[in-house]
Amino acid sequence: MNGISVLGIFVADISFSGEKIPSIGETILGDSYNIGPGGKGCNQAIAIARLGGKVNFISKIGKDDYGQLALNTLNQNKIDTSTIIQSPTHQTGVAGIMVDKKSGKNAINVITGAPSTLSIDELNKNIDKIKNSKIFLTQLEIPKDVTLHSLKIAKENNVLTILNPAPASEISKEFFNYIDYFTPNETEAEFYTGIKITNEKEAKEASIKLLTLGLKKIIITLGEKGLFYSDGNEDIYLKATPVKAIDTTGAGDAFNGGLAYALSQNKPIKDSLNLANQAAGLSTLKLGAGNAMPYLKDLTNIMK
Ligand code: ADP
Repeated sequence: MNGISVLGIFVADISFSGEKIPSIGETILGDSYNIGPGGKGCNQAIAIARLGGKVNFISKIGKDDYGQLALNTLNQNKIDTSTIIQSPTHQTGVAGIMVDKKSGKNAINVITGAPSTLSIDELNKNIDKIKNSKIFLTQLEIPKDVTLHSLKIAKENNVLTILNPAPASEISKEFFNYIDYFTPNETEAEFYTGIKITNEKEAKEASIKLLTLGLKKIIITLGEKGLFYSDGNEDIYLKATPVKAIDTTGAGDAFNGGLAYALSQNKPIKDSLNLANQAAGLSTLKLGAGNAMPYLKDLTNIMK
């Protein structure tokens, strides 16, 4: 049993690139647009599948064109879609992304749509998938009561759990009982600890604070600086993969997917962090989110 369940959202990322991000009331003529898969859960499931992991994605989408895009994407990436709920009355999520092509900066409006209505009853229909997985990975993009319930069931069934606490938002203390790996980025770690992180020392301080809250294993991703891991006994700091990043959207998702995959293969923690770090670095070499997730062969090339 080495399967991975990912609970989260799919959104169609619709991005418009132009000389600037238009101001309120302004119309500009941009130069290109792209529609591709996004949503942290979906990106993470794609990362796992492309690395060779066996993964099912638990989510809710609409019966519309973007719902079809979701199913096509998941099927193309060999992700088990039997746990996808298709609602006839809700829309599939979309994100409208305005990109300033000179700076790469963006402004984003996400409409999560169908998954914001996902209920515990609906999740329970797929609970056996979670119970029978080796790893359960989720984020904070679906309703909190569903997230907490699923983490609890996973832990009660000895499934290893990873919470990528993104986007940062309040969670009750009860969550901490059911999380094996807590994987914030720098800004999320600051949100949960109040400690601004600019270096390894501050990452260590933040991880100590998170451990005292009852969390067990902390991984703070540090963007182009790499990552810091601590379980209270062992600390590991890894520098980022030296790449010339062109778009860091989805880097955290490649990291979390890579981590889940490596742990599902029983790799020791240092090797798992290494693999996740490389997958994340490689994801920055391509534009977009879901479509930028690397394949196992890309990793093998970089390891040579
Ligand atoms: P998020 O994408 O959630 O904001 P981070 O920015 O911390 O998360 O990035 C996650 C991981 O992606 C980092 O720990 C690192 O492994 C990798 N990464 C991000 N930016 C770069 C970069 N410029 N060069 C190499 N690796 C990167």
